[in-house]
Amino acid sequence: SALYASLFQDDISVDVYNNLIKAVDENLDTLNRYVDIKKKFLGLEDIHMYDLYVPLTESFDMKIPYEEAQEIVLNALKPLGEEYLGLIKRAFEENWIDVYENEGKQGGAYSWGSYDSHPYILMNYKDDLNSLFTLIHELGHSMHSYYSKKTQPYLYSGYKIFVAEVASTLNELLLINYLLEKADSKEERVYLLNYYLEQFRTTVYRQTMFAEFEKLTHASVEDGNPLTAKEFNDIYYDLNKKYYGNSTVVDEQIALEWARIPHFYSNFYVYKYATGFSAASALSQKILTEGKVAVDKYIEFLKSGGSDYPLNQLKSAGVDMEKKESVDKALEVFKELVDKLEKEY
Ligand SMILES: [Zn+2]
Repeated sequence: SALYASLFQDDISVDVYNNLIKAVDENLDTLNRYVDIKKKFLGLEDIHMYDLYVPLTESFDMKIPYEEAQEIVLNALKPLGEEYLGLIKRAFEENWIDVYENEGKQGGAYSWGSYDSHPYILMNYKDDLNSLFTLIHELGHSMHSYYSKKTQPYLYSGYKIFVAEVASTLNELLLINYLLEKADSKEERVYLLNYYLEQFRTTVYRQTMFAEFEKLTHASVEDGNPLTAKEFNDIYYDLNKKYYGNSTVVDEQIALEWARIPHFYSNFYVYKYATGFSAASALSQKILTEGKVAVDKYIEFLKSGGSDYPLNQLKSAGVDMEKKESVDKALEVFKELVDKLEKEY
C-alpha cells in the first residue's frame, strides 16, 4: 500500500499509524467536552469552527520581555539537569540567538547550524507568551542538534523528522507545567490553559484527522475508485463531523479545507506531528516523576542523532510508540488540562 511504502523508509510499522488514529478516535469525547467548555466561556449558543480560535480571556494579556523569558526558560527546564541548563546559558550568553525583528530580516523562527558550529536560532521575539514558547521550542531543537553533532560522526549527526519535534515539544510541556504551577490568578490560568489546549488540539487531534484523511483517500484509490474534488470534500466533511460533530456546528464550507493544506502534497507526513507530541508528552511525564534516571535516558536520546531508526531511539528513551498506550497517555494529559479549564469556569 501507499501507506506501507511511505512508512518503510523510517522503519515504522503500519500499526503505529493505525494506533494513533484509533487512540484519538476513542478520545473524541474529550475533544468535544473541551469545545463545550469553550462555548460556555464565550457565552455562545452555537459554536462554529472559526470560534475555536477566539481567546477566552477578554482583557488579560501577558507581557514577557526577553530578559524575563530567559529566566523563565532556565527555571522551567530545571528538571533536565545542570548540564542541559549549562548549554542553555551558553546559548543566551554566547549570542547563539538572533532575538528581535529587524529591517530585511526573515519572519518566523528556526534553529540551524552546521556540523562543526554551535546551533544558531533565528527568531522575531515580541514580548508575548507565544514568543516565550517559540524560544523554548527552538532551544529544544538546538540542544538536540548540539548533542547529536557532538556525539555522532557527520554521517549520523542529522535526526529524522519522526523524532525532530520531540525535544522541542518536551521543552514546551515543561514550560506549561512550570507556568501553571506559578500562575496566581484565574485569568492567567485560563489564558495559559487555553493557549496550550489549542496547541494540543491543533497538533494531536487536527493532525491525526489529517492523517485519517490521507489514509482514507489513498485506500480509496487502491480500491480502484477515482478521486475528484467531490470525493475529497465528502471524505473531509465526514471526518469533521466525526471529530467535532457532538459539540460544533460543522458548516458545509469546511468540506473545502483540505484544498489549503500544503502538507498533503507530502504523503503521510502530518502524523509525525501527532506521534512526536505524544512521545514528548510521555517522556516529559517520566522526567517529572522519575527524575535523573529518565533524564539520563533522554539525554542519550538527544545524543543518538540519526544513528538508529526512530522507534528504536524512542524505545531506549523510555517510550514505545508501537504501543497504543503511548498515545493514550498523551491524551490523558489533554484530559487533565481540560478538567483544569472546566474547574476555572
Ligand atoms: Zn519545531
